[in-house]
Amino acid sequence: MEKGSGPFANAELCTQCGYCLPVCPTYRVENNELHAPRGRISVILALQSGTLTIGEAAAALDHCLLCRACHTACPAGVRPAKLALLLRTLIPPRPTVWNRLLHHVTNSHRLTAHLAALLRLYQKSGVQRVVRRRRLLRLLPPLARMEALIPRHRMEAPPFPPFPAPSGLPGLPRIGLLCGCMARLFFPGVAPSAAQLLALWGVEVCLLEGFGCCGAPFREAGDRKGFLHRARRTLDAFLAAGPLQAVVCDSSVCAVTARRYARALADDATYAAAARDFSAKVQPLSPFLVKGVGRPTVLPKNPGFGHITYHDHCQARHGLGIMQDPRGLLTALPVVYHELWPPDETVPDGCCGAGGDYQLRHPVRSQKIREQKLAAIHACGAEVVVGENPGCLLHIAAGLEKTGSAVQVRHLAEILYAAYSLQQPTHKVPP
Ligand code: SF4
Ligand code: SF4
Repeated sequence: MEKGSGPFANAELCTQCGYCLPVCPTYRVENNELHAPRGRISVILALQSGTLTIGEAAAALDHCLLCRACHTACPAGVRPAKLALLLRTLIPPRPTVWNRLLHHVTNSHRLTAHLAALLRLYQKSGVQRVVRRRRLLRLLPPLARMEALIPRHRMEAPPFPPFPAPSGLPGLPRIGLLCGCMARLFFPGVAPSAAQLLALWGVEVCLLEGFGCCGAPFREAGDRKGFLHRARRTLDAFLAAGPLQAVVCDSSVCAVTARRYARALADDATYAAAARDFSAKVQPLSPFLVKGVGRPTVLPKNPGFGHITYHDHCQARHGLGIMQDPRGLLTALPVVYHELWPPDETVPDGCCGAGGDYQLRHPVRSQKIREQKLAAIHACGAEVVVGENPGCLLHIAAGLEKTGSAVQVRHLAEILYAAYSLQQPTHKVPP
């Protein structure tokens, strides 16, 4: 490939300054330049000069979590995660059998609901306890890793609220709610809590139905065809819902992914206009609750926890710039809010190591990164970790459970719904 042009030209902006090293989760646990953004850029440059083959470069960059912390840290505008994703699109990693199974299930709302019911039965019946206590899956490590992700939280969660019925009130803003497949599968209280919360904010909630998965795992795995197929199905659901003022995602990774539809489908004669409209309207829950239409008509109560912390989903923080909104919502509650900092406090807290299916493809490193997150959680003194991305919450919950920690994990929608649904109106709705 020629210098100064081509899809990887961005790598040539790298000055090798090293500002990105301390924020990179893989470098922090490996202390190996090959697993640092700067090392990954060197791999791209070696690919461009012909020193490495595309297969060798893709294998080296498969260890990147795509967290984008390096994008925020880099003063030269280098985008290592974007380049790693581009390479992954050219040479996709081989999906595991479990990935295939999960993708098949999450592609259908009906299958997802059936599997969620089965998982619930598996837990409630006590079979999970026996399987874990007797380590029945020890001879099947991949299955054991997946099983370890089924969170204790499912059993501890209070009864889920129903989805709100249409208000019948004329003139309310119509807001679409896109419910992520991982949340539907592993945190079934999240979607109805988010819908109820939006109704409390005074909007008409319209569920986007039947699309399956937004395509996030396919995009991150470099499967462009699979991603575009899911994007078109999601857009079909968006178009079927009628005119919407905004679309809120209960899972922040869906919002990150849906923002990419406009560019990904720019040349699609059938879907380009819908993709542009959708990408412009879509956002995660917290920014909508802070900056969107509607406000709660009640004051919040304590949601059942006195000490709370928040875990940033890396792609939402570094890709969409979402950081203050969830903190603003949590600090408005009558709770003590604790910021997460690693015990050594040398760099801000970062990735939990989940990285979508990274936790299944690179379990050892993923768990090493999670140990740093768990140390930060325990050091801050919170009773509950709140987040907006189910993949992160699953991974953190599994780590907490493994260490026997009493700290719990909740989605932002669940905490806020618990806080705002317990009170009668105490002040007038702001204009
Ligand atoms: S995206 Fe994350 S894991 Fe990948 S190089 Fe950047 S900081 Fe490291
Ligand atoms: S990627 Fe950016 S921050 Fe990292 S070494 Fe290169 S120029 Fe410096």
